[in-house]
Amino acid sequence: MKITIWGCRGSMPSPGPDMIKYGGNTSCVQVEHGDTCLILDGGSGIQELGNALNPDTRVVNLLLTHLHIDHIMGLGYFRPFYNPKCTVNIWGPTGSNESLVERLRRYFSPPFFPVRLKELPAEIYVFEIDNSDFEIDSFRIRSEYICHPGPTVGYRVECGDSVLSYIPDHEPALGSSDFPHSTEWCSGYDIAENADLLLHDGQYTQQDYKGKIGWGHSSMKDAIDFAKLSRVKKLILFHHDPLHSDTTLENMFEQCTANKEFGFELALAREKDTFTLD
Ligand SMILES: [Zn+2]
Ligand SMILES: [Zn+2]
Repeated sequence: MKITIWGCRGSMPSPGPDMIKYGGNTSCVQVEHGDTCLILDGGSGIQELGNALNPDTRVVNLLLTHLHIDHIMGLGYFRPFYNPKCTVNIWGPTGSNESLVERLRRYFSPPFFPVRLKELPAEIYVFEIDNSDFEIDSFRIRSEYICHPGPTVGYRVECGDSVLSYIPDHEPALGSSDFPHSTEWCSGYDIAENADLLLHDGQYTQQDYKGKIGWGHSSMKDAIDFAKLSRVKKLILFHHDPLHSDTTLENMFEQCTANKEFGFELALAREKDTFTLD
């Protein structure tokens, strides 16, 4: 499968000259194999992805981790929704009070957005998931609730022998007093275990995190510890803070990784980076 990052910023878009290298668009990742296209989250990065899709694309599969605005804010600008020949299948977590389709309708309605969900020309199907296993063509997918405010899932995407794990918003340190020493009760562990590639929240410095416990995000150090515990082959630090410039991100990364051996590769997520898992 081929994986392309279209947005890796957390919380809100942050364009500007200091954010050129890693990009300012919020969460959106494309996963392709053969003719099948999965899209993980609909942050602002989905606009450019939609414009870059082959115009003959007839089916897209959109997997939402949760409904925080930074993960859905690009949906109204996603071109396939306006193509009557297109089918858009949407998966996302069950809500406690409102169904997924009702929560999506809230975004697609005034005053937030002028076009209602039912007015979009594409054929749209909405599927609710929780701790679920399902298949989309040759992809085998597992979703599981993880530690983040509101109903939020992480995704494990398998194709052949390759495993991608996508957990963009995650605070495993909050879920277990034993973090990062025990896999038992560790939020997200089953999604990430032995993954070839893990895209994981690494929004804060350790200092920032102390003032933001319970906000649902991880320090870079906690993301690295989580990746180590999960025995992944590669970690890509994702969901960059909107205030962190390219230079700040690289300084944070340097502080966490200098002169250390982790037993796996790691790097900062960068818009337009691609990864191929065979
Ligand atoms: Zn987010
Ligand atoms: Zn969130």
